[in-house]
Amino acid sequence: MTEAPRLEVRSITRAFGGRPVVDDVSFSVQAGQVSCLLGPSGCGKSTTLRIIAGVDTPDAGEIRMDGVAVAGPEVMMPPENRGTGLMFQDFALFPHLSVAANVAFGLRGTRTEKRLRVFELMQKVGLEHYLDSFPHELSGGEQQRVALARALAPRPHILLMDEPFSGLDNRLRDGIRDETLALLKEEGTAVVLVTHEPEEAMRMGDEILLMRDGRIVQAGAPYNIYNAPVDRDAAAFFSDINVIRGRVEGALTQTAFGGFLAPGHPDGAEVEIVIRPQHLSIDFDRAGQGPAPSEDHGTWAHAVVTRSRFVGTESIIEFTLDDGVPLKASVPNVFLPKPGRALWIALRRDRCFVFPAPARAAE
Ligand code: ADP
Ligand code: MG
Repeated sequence: MTEAPRLEVRSITRAFGGRPVVDDVSFSVQAGQVSCLLGPSGCGKSTTLRIIAGVDTPDAGEIRMDGVAVAGPEVMMPPENRGTGLMFQDFALFPHLSVAANVAFGLRGTRTEKRLRVFELMQKVGLEHYLDSFPHELSGGEQQRVALARALAPRPHILLMDEPFSGLDNRLRDGIRDETLALLKEEGTAVVLVTHEPEEAMRMGDEILLMRDGRIVQAGAPYNIYNAPVDRDAAAFFSDINVIRGRVEGALTQTAFGGFLAPGHPDGAEVEIVIRPQHLSIDFDRAGQGPAPSEDHGTWAHAVVTRSRFVGTESIIEFTLDDGVPLKASVPNVFLPKPGRALWIALRRDRCFVFPAPARAAE
């Protein structure tokens, strides 16, 4: 017999004032798995999390934990009985309690048991020397780690995290994300993490649930979501994109890079060929002179540079194809060709996505 998932969200719907904010959302999370609800602000992530926590009620659908219904047409288990831990952006520690008392706050058991658990967690987050300190004596990053220890102390089966790292500055964030992830894995907690940052979702998530307008538009491992987006917006959520528009004729779409197969798109259909800037390559040697380079790196087109910038870990080069289509490429080093310089650029067909084009606005 297979075990029921730790958390199962089944067709949850929630409307406010007649407007659906969470619309038929379903997913499940296993023990030890981190699932990231990712999407732009206002798409319904926090509402979904609040319904799982039990501080909001779904209009329809069901929540099950280890196979037991906790919210649905006939049940509404109070939040404190659900065995979930919560961690929000404003993780406010109790200012008048010591670090140890903060972490012990939700714990049951004997004094010794509590002490052991608090010490164990404080050791895991590397703060065992601060047990008697008060929150204001700690840095933001340290407070964040105490908040994590506090959330995990009662051994929640499911930890719900809502933008937990967004109050931290960039430099701290990477380290704390990694530590948090390690600790969550060690504890075997099932985690739903809400974020609007694709990079955070890719770093933290075993699975990403991409949300838009209250619905999950795509679910999958970070690699799959990044490399096989369901539509143009899903592609654009993770990086800048290039779009080449065309029409399918005789099963092909003609572009400056040659004909593109557009399987599944009928003749006459308008399509968009989408490619990420890092999947364009540039022939650095030949300054756009002579014939196109060999086909090893994809198909080539002739282009003229309009702008180039170095942005720290990469250079972004903008250019225009001979047919007027603007594109940008990103290369992982310093390469700053002057505007007006001609170049050969290549595109790898296996890295391109072809989507139906949205109807053009009346011109
Ligand atoms: P996210 O966390 O993805 O930014 P939320 O789930 O917080 O989005 O909110 C989704 C939408 O629902 C927003 O437009 C928000 O204004 C609305 N909303 C959330 N909670 C309520 C509420 N209690 N009453 C009315 N509207 C709400
Ligand atoms: Mg939110």
